[in-house]
Amino acid sequence: MSSLPFLPFSKPSIDEATIAAVGDVLRSGWITSGPKVQAFEAQLSEYFGGRPVRTFNSGTCTMEIALRIAGIGPGDEVITTPISWVATANVILEVGATPVFADIDPVTRNIDLAKVEAAITARTKAIIPVYLSGLPVDMDALYALADKHHLRVVEDAAQALGSNWQDQRIGARGDLVSFSFQANKNITSSEGGCLVLNNEDEARLAEKYRLQGVTRSGFDGLDVDVLGGKFNMTDIAAAIGLGQFAHIEAITAHRRELAKHYFACFGPDFEATYGAQLPVADFTNTNWHLFQLVLPERKDGQPARATFMKEMQALGVGVGYHYPPIHLLSLYRARGFTEGMLPIAERVGRLIVSLPMFTAMTKADVERSVAAVKAVLNAV
Ligand SMILES: *Cc1c(COP(=O)(O)O)cnc(C)c1O
Repeated sequence: MSSLPFLPFSKPSIDEATIAAVGDVLRSGWITSGPKVQAFEAQLSEYFGGRPVRTFNSGTCTMEIALRIAGIGPGDEVITTPISWVATANVILEVGATPVFADIDPVTRNIDLAKVEAAITARTKAIIPVYLSGLPVDMDALYALADKHHLRVVEDAAQALGSNWQDQRIGARGDLVSFSFQANKNITSSEGGCLVLNNEDEARLAEKYRLQGVTRSGFDGLDVDVLGGKFNMTDIAAAIGLGQFAHIEAITAHRRELAKHYFACFGPDFEATYGAQLPVADFTNTNWHLFQLVLPERKDGQPARATFMKEMQALGVGVGYHYPPIHLLSLYRARGFTEGMLPIAERVGRLIVSLPMFTAMTKADVERSVAAVKAVLNAV
């Protein structure tokens, strides 16, 4: 038994200045959407090169609103990856469209753009790529494909705040780009999300969709001309987001250092010795939201991931899994998806694990995590 405290796979770090800022909001007399939301949106817009940004109360509703802004609805097909949080596909169903899954690339674990192209039909209206663990797809290839087939792109960049494609930030270019500030993300607002938009018309539409479709004018003018919902971010959440966003560069830099240390500790022979697959060793594009291994199958027939998670937990190290393949969840099976349709996603989705990776982690924590992985895999 280890005498060290349990090492979780993720945990938020909220500094005292942020806690004080939340107190200020609570004392201010204005606790819902107000000046903090405006300030957060202004800072995000500046970060994304001046593109319009609007915030919402989750990454999920941010994606749903992006699809509505893109005019996606019944009869339309949207191509996405099966290896994502189920929200990515649920929002396609939510707007009445049809999800189509394209298999993943076994190395990047992101959607395979050649398979996206093969899945395009006359009804395809949009692509939702996901940047798993913060690693972007080839953005030049993605937008060349979208242009060629006249498709909208709704980037599920929920995990990719702080990531780049070459010399540009994710979000600074492209079509509609959605981020999440859920508690485990690189920066959090407890819950929340933001959408980077193409122009002010789209931004006005985003404002309507997030608040009942309302447009106000003058002292008492109020009209509703689209069906919106209740998706606005509070100033309490925005104050947390602002406090976190102040550290975005340091957070990304620290995570890249932790990832480098993971590779150094695993060493060059790790994959050959243990049969597990490391992530892509990228220290410029990805923000290292997650550090994910694909485990080897076990020779004794035990379930590889559940056994690994249990044994790691016994050594005091928390492990997450992101994600089970969406198309094999009951809701999607009921729509005709079955085993064997997306073989790479099915194997990766069964064997992928997320090792500890969070802002407050130290290099010693990385060493502990790697030692536990080697001890557990050795035991196979
Ligand atoms: C977190 C996440 C979401 C959903 O964001 P919420 O803020 O939890 O609604 C969607 N897609 C991916 C890839 C995510 O990681």
